[in-house]
Amino acid sequence: MKIQNYINGQYVNPIQDNWLDNLCPANGKVYGQIPNSSKDDVEIAYNAAKTAFPSWSQTTLETRSRILIKISELLETNILRFAEAESKDNGKPISLAKSVDIPRAASNFRFFGNAITQFASESHESVGQNAINYTLRQPIGVVGCISPWNLPLYLFTWKIAPAIAAGNCVVAKPSEVTPMTAFLLGEICNEAGLPKGVLNIVHGLGTTTGQAIVEHPDIKAISFTGGTETGAHIARVAAPMFKKLSLELGGKNPNIIFEDCDYDDMLETTVRSSFANQGQICLCGSRIFVEVSIYEKFKTDFVAKVKQLKVGHPSEENTNMGALVSKPHLEKVMKYIEIAKLDNGTILCGGNKVIVKGYENGYYLEPTVIEIQTNECRVNQEEVFGPVVTIMPFKTEDEVLQMANSVNYGLSATLWSNNLKRTMRMSNQLQVGIVWVNTWMMRDLRTPFGGVKASGVGREGGFEALRFFTEAKNVCIKY
Ligand code: NAD
Repeated sequence: MKIQNYINGQYVNPIQDNWLDNLCPANGKVYGQIPNSSKDDVEIAYNAAKTAFPSWSQTTLETRSRILIKISELLETNILRFAEAESKDNGKPISLAKSVDIPRAASNFRFFGNAITQFASESHESVGQNAINYTLRQPIGVVGCISPWNLPLYLFTWKIAPAIAAGNCVVAKPSEVTPMTAFLLGEICNEAGLPKGVLNIVHGLGTTTGQAIVEHPDIKAISFTGGTETGAHIARVAAPMFKKLSLELGGKNPNIIFEDCDYDDMLETTVRSSFANQGQICLCGSRIFVEVSIYEKFKTDFVAKVKQLKVGHPSEENTNMGALVSKPHLEKVMKYIEIAKLDNGTILCGGNKVIVKGYENGYYLEPTVIEIQTNECRVNQEEVFGPVVTIMPFKTEDEVLQMANSVNYGLSATLWSNNLKRTMRMSNQLQVGIVWVNTWMMRDLRTPFGGVKASGVGREGGFEALRFFTEAKNVCIKY
């Protein structure tokens, strides 16, 4: 199947007729073509967005809200079609696409459709000076949204929904590895009555299409989720043009387990936080630190549970882990398993490719648990972004805190303990943007989402996202 760009409410071919193959991770076969859009396609998308902006930015909040909620409803009506497309394109289990990815994409539109009607700004009375100040929060204009392959529609809509809710028009690019659901979204937007040009979706490589969006002098803000290296590159390109930037980047998240936790709950959730979506979630807890008193028990129980995970074809309902997203990514993850061995890591389970009968060329990998000797080893310092976790014991709170913070990244952390004072103390000191205590990936869309250090700058979620996608202007009136 050939997919097209969605520009000005219409599906169009890339003007230079350049195409890329789209591969199915479950069987390694080409199953379609996607545009490799050029600078010229981005320019056309930009012009459509620019033309739509004066009217869209003046559209009432009620109307914007109604359209966003309609998009949300249509996603829900079409959940199966979208989930199947997501699973096929990404390799993730269909059960996950149905229960997480597509419902969350629908929630993103519903949430920001509602949030925009509650978004207010401040006024400040200058007491004794007979003056009042008020803040206008005005849409920026045309903004760029660039998203990764791991949670394709989920993260794509997490940017687009607040951008258009706030009155901007968008040029967006999904990952070239997983373009399918973004392609389908255009249809839904038309059906929901989103005016043409408000959202424009261009497909293609990061280095061509993505780069053209970032380099465009009149696209004034870039919301990007992806790898840290790409984020650094985007920051270098965008900085001289003084663009607003939101960068959600990589992670190397600690999962810290104390003896006094609810053990069964912890164990079950830790299997999920390690291997959900084949470990390809920026929030997965890839560094597991366990208090020494329960270390041996945890090791035995965890490995036993991980061995029960079923790696299989993504379309089968009982598959726990599907295929990794691409061959180069599978190779990268496997390289890290070798690096861990060289660093004296012991493979407790997994470590090998899985051959799924009938789909021998798919990118399947066993869930892998590695016992490591030190937090300084490369597999604990560098983002692997696959079904690979490490475990090691710790003795004291100070020691584990030091190890948790001793990485370049700072996205999220998970703490398992029933000692309230300890969890509050540690939450204060962990150098991350998100801390989960006795849970993982529980999301309330009103909360600020983002990382510190090499995990990015800026926050998404709730009013933070609406603030990002607007410019604050102060008006001072003397009376
Ligand atoms: P990536 O950086 O390779 O690509 C992300 C997007 O950027 C893609 O659409 C890509 O085409 C585009 N891109 C690449 N080069 C570009 C350039 N020069 N200019 C403009 N755009 C460019 O990342 P990926 O491999 O798709 O995704 C995996 C990474 O994303 C991991 O590091 C993961 O941790 C991170 N991630 C972070 C979060 C978060 O919220 N912090 C969420 C999900 C994924």
